[in-house]
This record gives sequence, structure tokens and C-alpha cells, in this order.
Amino acid sequence: MRIEFFAFANINNTIRLRDGELRVRLSDLLEGAPESVLRAIAHILLAKMYRQPIARLHATRYRKYVNSHEMRSKAHLLRQMRGRKRIASAKGRYYDLEAIFEDINLRFFGGMQARPQMSWSQGRARNLLGHYDPAHNAIVVSRIFDHPHVPRYAVEYIVFHEMLHLRHPVKLNGSRRCVHSAEFRAEEKLFPQLEAARRFLRRL
Ligand SMILES: [Zn+2]
Repeated sequence: MRIEFFAFANINNTIRLRDGELRVRLSDLLEGAPESVLRAIAHILLAKMYRQPIARLHATRYRKYVNSHEMRSKAHLLRQMRGRKRIASAKGRYYDLEAIFEDINLRFFGGMQARPQMSWSQGRARNLLGHYDPAHNAIVVSRIFDHPHVPRYAVEYIVFHEMLHLRHPVKLNGSRRCVHSAEFRAEEKLFPQLEAARRFLRRL
């Protein structure tokens, strides 16, 4: 059973059973929801999956919560935020970020990391090598690295670094912060061309 909060563009919850694994995704807007609401969601999702009637008590509890003024204004804000920026393609002219992600995933994470959206940046910002965009659940890499003079290990390192951020999350507070804990740094050292990649990126 795998349950996670997910950055849907709206309040949304999904359930599916595939190959013996039950996958549940709850809108990340519901992270702070009281336990009675989470119980109601569990009931509703399971009832839907097994085509059973939904108990009115749970339906009402859930509806009341998501229709509360506070939740509605949060959802509205989210739609604006998440609807605005378009995520570009993972396939660049030279490098395919999805292929790089899968490669890194196999080499360093036993293939166990769920892949977020992978995207080259729209602009060509130099100040941001890469970042994780929680609003779109996307790893975005600056397009300047989609270039034949950029060694593959440098792009791999940027993706690896952002994947480590997903494994070692920091509480986001408005704008993005880049915090590297001791465990983060230790794991980062597993990347064989770490020094070469850093040297290359510093030269830019
Ligand atoms: Zn970082």
C-alpha cells in the first residue's frame, strides 16, 4: 500500500489497485486535515473502488471540510499558482531528462524514486542550475545545459542533486530554500564525478 500527498492542481484524491499494489494520492491541500476527515476520505475512496455505497456521515464530513471558506480560498489560490506556469518538455535537443532521471534512479536509488515531471526551463537562467517546483511536482533544469559542450555527467549531477532534495525535504516557506543537511551531503558524495561536475558548473 502506498499513500502520498500529491500536488494536484485542485482538491483531488485518487485510488487504484494495480499489480497487487494499492496506490492512494491525496491532494496536498489535505495535509493538515483532521483525522475524521482523513477517515472519511479513506472510506469514500475504498467505497468507490469496490463500488459500495458511501456512508452519508463520511460524505457529509468530507464535503463540509472541503467546502469550508478556508479550504475554498486555498484551492482557488492553488489553481492560480499551478495553472499558470507551463511545464516544458523533458526532451531537449541533446539530453533527455526523463532518460537521465531513470538512469540515475537505477544507479543510485534502486529504481525506487517516483519520477516527478522532468522539464528543461523555459528561459535560460544561469543563476539556477536546477530546482524542484512543488507546485507542479517537477524537476526543472536550466536549458543552458542542453548543449553539446556540456558533459552528460554535469546534467546527471544536477538531476541527482534535485532528486536528493526530494529525499531530504525541507519545509518550504513561500520561496524556495536550498538546504543541504549532513545526510544530504554524505549521499551526494556517492556521485562518482562529483568534483568534476562541480568544477564544470563553477566555470560557467
Ligand atoms: Zn540544493
